[in-house]
Amino acid sequence: MQLLDGKAISSQIKSEIKAEVEQWVAGGGKKPHLAAILVGQDGASETYVASKIRSCEEIGFTSTLLRFEADITEAQLLEAVESLNNDPDVDGFIVQLPLPKHISENTVMEAVNPAKDVDGFHPINVGRMCKGLPAYISATPFGILEMLIRAGIETSGKHCVVIGRSQIVGLPMSILMQRNTFPGNCTVTITHSKTQNLKEICQSADILIVALGRPEFVKADYVKEGAVVVDVGITRVADATKKSGFSIKGDVDFNDVAPKASFITPVPGGVGLMTICGLLTNTFKAAKKEIYK
Ligand code: NAD
Repeated sequence: MQLLDGKAISSQIKSEIKAEVEQWVAGGGKKPHLAAILVGQDGASETYVASKIRSCEEIGFTSTLLRFEADITEAQLLEAVESLNNDPDVDGFIVQLPLPKHISENTVMEAVNPAKDVDGFHPINVGRMCKGLPAYISATPFGILEMLIRAGIETSGKHCVVIGRSQIVGLPMSILMQRNTFPGNCTVTITHSKTQNLKEICQSADILIVALGRPEFVKADYVKEGAVVVDVGITRVADATKKSGFSIKGDVDFNDVAPKASFITPVPGGVGLMTICGLLTNTFKAAKKEIYK
């Protein structure tokens, strides 16, 4: 079994971006600028945004955090989005999800200028991705692809099973894995909460990508000997032995599954860290106007 070590791979990618940014700035380019909108006080969202901002500082980006109370109206939030759309200094921005229930996430996502949509959630970026056109690929799928590339995992002709069909992970992942490119050329099965015989389907997976949000759901009997297992899940589980009061669990029972897998991502220290690299890469592309001129 080989570990797909998100910590090592992400730190390598960050140092590569940092070196490229230095060169870009030395050549007269503007420092890439990422802005984030954070609504409310959700603990996990606070952690994610803080870590995105910290990563920007590490690699030489400018970052801006706009915070709003949970009772902000949708109209006020749309105004904030519009001000970032119109700010020439901001290359890309994200609206951290989830948003409070009274705000439509789809409406907000669609209000983001696709050229600044470095999370890759706007329908134009999703559509361009589906058509194989240059697009911001959403950060988590981007991070998973990058892990497969850097580990040199053969994907062509393989059966890839994706558990979960969410807009931000499962669905884009399934589209990306069937594309006529590397990584890709898989025969993809996308599964979800209504899937019958999930275990049997998973047992035929050469590459199993798990994103359903149920801690340690996938056990060894779901996994074929030698499969590549990518665990996207991140759930906080109460843990009195930790200072924080919780520990982070993936959707895969790592200790049970690892002996059968050829490659496996740990949680924490796997896909989560790679996600930030996706965001940073997209922001740098935005600063260089690589996708939208
Ligand atoms: P989601 O809740 O939007 O979607 C979950 C999906 O799982 C749904 O499509 C549902 O049909 C499917 N599902 C639920 N129960 C199932 C079952 N018993 N069998 C088969 N399918 C089932 O989730 P999401 O936003 O895709 O997130 C999934 C997990 O990944 C969560 O733990 C989330 O925290 C984590 N996540 C991690 C990252 C990262 O950077 N590592 C990024 C995004 C999400």
